[in-house]
Amino acid sequence: MKTDIEIAQQATLKSIVEIAESLNLTAEDYEPYGYTKAKLSDKLLEKRKDEPNGKIILVTSINPTPAGEGKSTVTVGLGQALNRLGEKAVIALREPSLGPVVGLKGGAAGGGYSQVLPMEEINLHFTSDIHAITSANNLLSAVIDNHIHRDNQLHIDPRKVEWKRVVDMNDRSLRQIVIGLGGATQGVPREEGFTITAASEIMAILCLADSIEDLKARLSKIVIGYTYDDQPVTVKDLEVEGALTLLLKDAFKPNLVQTIENTPAVIHGGPFANIAHGCNSIIATKTAAKLGDYVVTEAGFGADLGAEKFLHIKTQAGNFHPDAIVIVATVRALKMHGGVSKKDLNTENIEALKAGMENLNKHIDTIEQFGLPYVVAINKFPTDTIAETDFIESWCRSRNIDVALADVWAKGGAGGIELAKKVMAKTATPEVEFTRIYDSNETLETKIRKIAQKVYGADDIELSLKAKKQIIFFEQQGWGNLPVCMAKTQYSLSDDPTLVGRPRGFTITIRELKASIGAGFIVVLTGDVMTMPGLPKTPAALNMDMDANGKITGLS
Ligand code: ADP
Repeated sequence: MKTDIEIAQQATLKSIVEIAESLNLTAEDYEPYGYTKAKLSDKLLEKRKDEPNGKIILVTSINPTPAGEGKSTVTVGLGQALNRLGEKAVIALREPSLGPVVGLKGGAAGGGYSQVLPMEEINLHFTSDIHAITSANNLLSAVIDNHIHRDNQLHIDPRKVEWKRVVDMNDRSLRQIVIGLGGATQGVPREEGFTITAASEIMAILCLADSIEDLKARLSKIVIGYTYDDQPVTVKDLEVEGALTLLLKDAFKPNLVQTIENTPAVIHGGPFANIAHGCNSIIATKTAAKLGDYVVTEAGFGADLGAEKFLHIKTQAGNFHPDAIVIVATVRALKMHGGVSKKDLNTENIEALKAGMENLNKHIDTIEQFGLPYVVAINKFPTDTIAETDFIESWCRSRNIDVALADVWAKGGAGGIELAKKVMAKTATPEVEFTRIYDSNETLETKIRKIAQKVYGADDIELSLKAKKQIIFFEQQGWGNLPVCMAKTQYSLSDDPTLVGRPRGFTITIRELKASIGAGFIVVLTGDVMTMPGLPKTPAALNMDMDANGKITGLS
């Protein structure tokens, strides 16, 4: 069997100019970055504001296994299938972070015959957007520490600086550090810690802003910490919103590439869905909706994380909603939810599959609560048996749920025709009653409880003393009406990664909150979730290589 990188290397790419022209883009609408990539103008959305929008299809999934469930693969495959049906489809994905690429998961450019290309560039440094976000974030850190070191006119309490440095790497030893050691000329010592760039508030801001003005306004509102008498200190107080905007000027422009079948794909922004809001940028999704009749996009991890945040945070900031949802499930992950261990996944096991369906059932329930039409897609793996895929199909049909077997990993768009037809039929639903599970005007505690109970299926929430005090303080600051961005393990509906399937009778522990006022949400940390991942015992990096001829191996 060929690896993802081998398949990618054998593909014939069109010039990005040809792809841009197929979208009726003129020279002022895009800027080629070499032969296969381009930056789209951030003014394109405004330029085409009076043109109709394409239908937006959101791809989500059940709780994943550590390797991912193939959401990106299905997203790309579905876009390719729509194109094969003669529709004008554009794909809108997140940019992979280096942390997972070199860590446990590998790349995030799809797989098999449903990949976005050039995958080795998309998975590595691409057009440097993540580096620009890292630089903007760390400029702010440097300005904060310089301000404290100089004469600290703003009276920033060094013990209450919430803003952290970031790096795009899984590096657990940077989680908690001390900076400024070495004497009076080396700054003021204080506790500090690094977060992965994908969880930076600047990443979220870039993904939620719809214009440069909005970007700057959001950056200026970032609360970096508090004064000695607990007053919030903002970027505006430090007067660096202009510099931060400038550092992001190119990163803010969506990137245009193509799939293995030359379907246009816009890749922009990459917040994680467990510790951040998990969706590609609003400017990319909305621009894609001006370029195609269908936009296929994804939100990270399961519907309990990425889709929940897409539907509460992204749709609210962008004032839109998807026209249909695709819920990706795999035989492998459902068997894991039914109690099978990773080493036994290649053996047929209908009983385990049956037990694991409870996980899919909960995510279906969640999407139904939002009132959106949906299709279940079974992402077919080479190890699945016919009895297993038949079981899922008949389980869905007996409940009147639309389901399609997607063989897009092995066959590209040709393997997604049935799925594409069913999704198109769903987007034709005339009146969609889109309903959010919580209203932003409810209290922070109510919003968190509603997500825990209605999306995760928890009995209740348990707030730490710190979280209780923060809720009171945040509401006093006037931040109570912001949406909440839950930070939770992706492996379970609960906050305990070992509770697979559909856990019941559990409580979600709310450890602490973090105000992301520029992004416009309150981050809620549950269980033991951490905003700087670590590398696994055998990182994917150990398999990566490039020979003297530039031949790359080990990227997936
Ligand atoms: P997600 O978006 O859910 O994280 P990806 O689409 O990135 O998942 O896929 C994760 C990995 O699984 C990739 O290496 C991809 O090649 C592989 N993969 C996805 N779907 C299939 C499939 N149907 N058969 C075999 N491998 C697959």
